[in-house]
Amino acid sequence: MNYSYFILLFLIGFWGASIGSFALCTAQRLEEGASLFKRSQCEACEKPLGPLQLIPLFSYLFQKGKCVYCESPFSPNYLYAELFLTIFAMLGFWKWGLSLDFIIYFIFLHFFGIIIFSDLLIKKIPMFASLGVGVLGLLKISLTGTYSYVLSSVIAVPVVWVIQRAITKFKHQKSLGEGDLLLIGVCAIWLAPKELPYFAMGIGGLGLIMAFIWHKKFKEARFPFAPAILLGMVLTKMI
Ligand SMILES: [Zn+2]
Repeated sequence: MNYSYFILLFLIGFWGASIGSFALCTAQRLEEGASLFKRSQCEACEKPLGPLQLIPLFSYLFQKGKCVYCESPFSPNYLYAELFLTIFAMLGFWKWGLSLDFIIYFIFLHFFGIIIFSDLLIKKIPMFASLGVGVLGLLKISLTGTYSYVLSSVIAVPVVWVIQRAITKFKHQKSLGEGDLLLIGVCAIWLAPKELPYFAMGIGGLGLIMAFIWHKKFKEARFPFAPAILLGMVLTKMI
């Protein structure tokens, strides 16, 4: 560990923050049905934001969370999203250093953010993002020669499908959506078959926490499940 390590860690964290900003912006535009390519603007006065107002983390802090033109407050969600991805970018660098594993993980973080924020905002998992996770997983398998990982998906999907059917039959309510099932399948591609029990425990534990928070905060029984799936996979890889 030396100075250059910390400078790199800082740059990667900052880059992670911009992924957070990008992912939340994408999720919000999916929610509004707006174009993904329009310029960012203040939601109150609709003035386009300049480059200085688009620097992740710092813009929010320097402007004290307000628009420079009309002073209406920005949603703190941007700050949370940026901090969240900063942490996960830094964790990846701490775990894998500058390696092929890290580069693939870093690309994965874009889909990770989009899926988590979309599920939190609109309880939908964008199909293109799940497929992105799957394609990256297959790329990783072919680059690292870990072909047995494909088995994980072959095992996980039918098992979860059977559990899902059983819950639906006995409790007469839909437990997991097709989007969740697809996400579990593409996440399993990233894991060795022997890592599957940890993945299942991670999903179960985080899912319970999520259900608890959702019930306390919004009094809703249906809660976003994708964060538990993705975090379960990432934590299994890291621990
Ligand atoms: Zn404004």
